[in-house]
Amino acid sequence: MASGRIRVPPLHPAGCRTPRLVARIPPMAQTVTLIPGDGIGPELAEATRRVLDASGVKLDWEVVDAGEAVMEREGTPLPQSVLDSIIRNKVAIKGPITTPVGVGFRSVNVALRQSLNLYANLRPVRSMPGLKTRYEGVDLVIVRENTEDLYAGIEHMVGPDAAESIKIITRAASERIARFAFEYAVANGRHKVTAVHKANIMKFSDGLFLESCRTIAAQYEGKVAFEDRIVDNMCMQLVQKPELYDVLVLPNLYGDIVSDLCAGLVGGLGVAPGANIGNEVAVFEAVHGSAPKYAGQNKANPTALMLSGVLLLRHIGEQAAAERVEDAIRAVIAEGLTVTYDLGGSAGTSEFADAIVARLESVAATA
Ligand code: NAD
Repeated sequence: MASGRIRVPPLHPAGCRTPRLVARIPPMAQTVTLIPGDGIGPELAEATRRVLDASGVKLDWEVVDAGEAVMEREGTPLPQSVLDSIIRNKVAIKGPITTPVGVGFRSVNVALRQSLNLYANLRPVRSMPGLKTRYEGVDLVIVRENTEDLYAGIEHMVGPDAAESIKIITRAASERIARFAFEYAVANGRHKVTAVHKANIMKFSDGLFLESCRTIAAQYEGKVAFEDRIVDNMCMQLVQKPELYDVLVLPNLYGDIVSDLCAGLVGGLGVAPGANIGNEVAVFEAVHGSAPKYAGQNKANPTALMLSGVLLLRHIGEQAAAERVEDAIRAVIAEGLTVTYDLGGSAGTSEFADAIVARLESVAATA
C-alpha cells in the first residue's frame, strides 16, 4: 500500500526530549476507540485488535458500540458517548455498520463522517503478491470527499409518486479535498492527481468541483501533474489500464462507487482498507460493509480492516510497526496456505489472524 502518511501531525508523543527522561519513562500507550460494528464487524475487529497488539505498539482499546444492536438498546444507533470517545482519543477504528435500505435509521457511517468533519476518505488500492486477479501492479489512491454531495441527506417526496434528492457541492469542501489530494501526493512521492466528475451534465455542481480542483492544481504546478476525467470514462479506463492512474480525487458518490470498482481490481472488498480523516480526529475502516450473510461464521476476510489498522499505525507515527504488520499480512497472503475463502483458501477469520500474529512474533523473536 502507498505510505499512508497523513497531513495531521502524529498524535503519538515522540517521547520526551531529554535522554534521561526517555530512559526512565516507558512510552505512553495510545488509546484507540474501537467500534466493532454490525454483521461481520465484531469478528474482524477482534482479529485486527490481536494483530495490532502483536505489532509491538502499546495500544489501549476503548471499546464502544454503535449500530443495529445499540439502536434497539438505546434508541439511537450512534450514542453521544461514541462520539465523545472518538473526540477524546482522536483515533478510532471501526467495523462496518449496517444501514437499512430504503427505510429505518440514516447511515451511522455518514453521520460519523459529517458530525466529526472527517472530510477526507483515503482509500489506497494496491495489488497483493500471490493474489490471483486480472491485474498486476495496481497502485492507486482514492481520495473521496466525505461530507457533502448526495450524501448530505437532503431528500423528500414530491407528492406520492416523485422523490427529490439534493446534491450539495461547495467551493470550500471541494478545494479542501483537492488540497488534501495534492498534499498527499507531495508527501508520498505521487506524481499525478486526476479529478473525476460529470461536469458535462451537472455543469453547476460538478462544474464547481472541477473548477475548485483546477484552482488548487495551479498551486502545485511543476510538482504534481493534474488532469480530469468524466466518471463514466474513468470507470472504463480503470478496468482497461489502471496503471495510467495515481491519485484520484472524487466527490462523495463517485468516490464510493469507484472505490468498490478499484477494490475489484486487486482482489475484492476483503482487501480494501480506508481512513476517514479530519483536522482533529481520524476514523479507520474498511471499504466493505457488514456482509450480514457471513456474520458469526468466522469466514470473512479481516485483511481490509487490518490494513486500515496499518493506516492507523502510520497516522500515529508508528511507521516501523505499520511496515511490520503490512509485511506480515502480505507474506501470509503470498504464501496462500492460511487465507480466507475470498482469496481462494479455506481458513477462518481467526486462523488467518493466528497466522499473521505468528509471523509477527517470529519476526520479533529474530530481530
Ligand atoms: P458488503 O460490503 O457488506 O458485502 C458485499 C459482498 O462483498 C458480501 O456479500 C461478500 O460477498 C463480500 N465481502 C464484503 N466484505 C468481505 C470480507 N471482509 N471478506 C469476504 N467477503 C467480503 O456490501 P452490502 O451487502 O452492499 O452491504 C451490507 C451492509 O453494510 C449494508 O447495510 C450497507 O449499508 C453496509 N455498509 C456499511 C459500510 C460501512 O460501515 N462503512 C460500507 C458499505 C456498506
